[in-house]
Amino acid sequence: MKDLFFKNGISITDEQLEKFENYRKILLFYNGKFNITTITEKQDVYVKHFLDSVLCKDLFVDNSKVIEIGSGGGFPSIPLKIVRDDLNLTLVESTGKKCIFLKEVIKELNLNNVEVLNGRAEDFGKDKKYREKFDHVTARAVARLNTLCEYCMPFIKVGGSFIALKGNAEEEIKEAQNAVNVLGGKYSLIKEYNLPLEEAKRTLIKIEKIKSTPQLYPRGNGKERKQPL
Ligand code: SAM
Repeated sequence: MKDLFFKNGISITDEQLEKFENYRKILLFYNGKFNITTITEKQDVYVKHFLDSVLCKDLFVDNSKVIEIGSGGGFPSIPLKIVRDDLNLTLVESTGKKCIFLKEVIKELNLNNVEVLNGRAEDFGKDKKYREKFDHVTARAVARLNTLCEYCMPFIKVGGSFIALKGNAEEEIKEAQNAVNVLGGKYSLIKEYNLPLEEAKRTLIKIEKIKSTPQLYPRGNGKERKQPL
């Protein structure tokens, strides 16, 4: 599997590969009980979860503080931490049992500077302890981009960025332009590529935070999804 990473521009050590293998085994073990993923074939886990997660690794500034919204089984945060040990991570996940799984992975893989918060992004985003305290926020497969911006943008310091991992996102990018503006952001990178083997289309989106997010956001009470900006 080292080859798969290498062919896609990512060189990993034997120790990192061992962590990916352990992660895969823990994922399969807990999957029966916790319903974490429908992707279970070895090659699929490596391509659709691990490789997909790490292809954005160079967008994060050295030693940065990163918050992930809707971690689920830990994608992209845990693979990113395996290849970028310098990152300080906070994982936000609303489902308690997924948090139990994430804590188990963090312990078993011996990952430092990773904390798990069980709760909703809308609540943590209003909390002074977390609001505008991060260099980056990231998320994959949580909500449409307009909704996701309202969840994510409040966490970033001015000068930081939101790195979103999406599939085919042409429509969503246009649709989210108003949310990006209102929340203090600006699109600074839209990179489309194909994930190898299955040739699935992926889009990496970077939104820079150019001004503070108005206190009104996130609005809460489900408005981010029901009435997106
Ligand atoms: N990011 C992972 C991935 O790409 O495999 C998980 C994606 S899963 C489809 C979405 C996850 O986001 C779920 O685990 C769900 O519980 C969590 N989630 C959805 N809305 C959330 C919110 N507002 N705050 C925190 N977690 C949320």
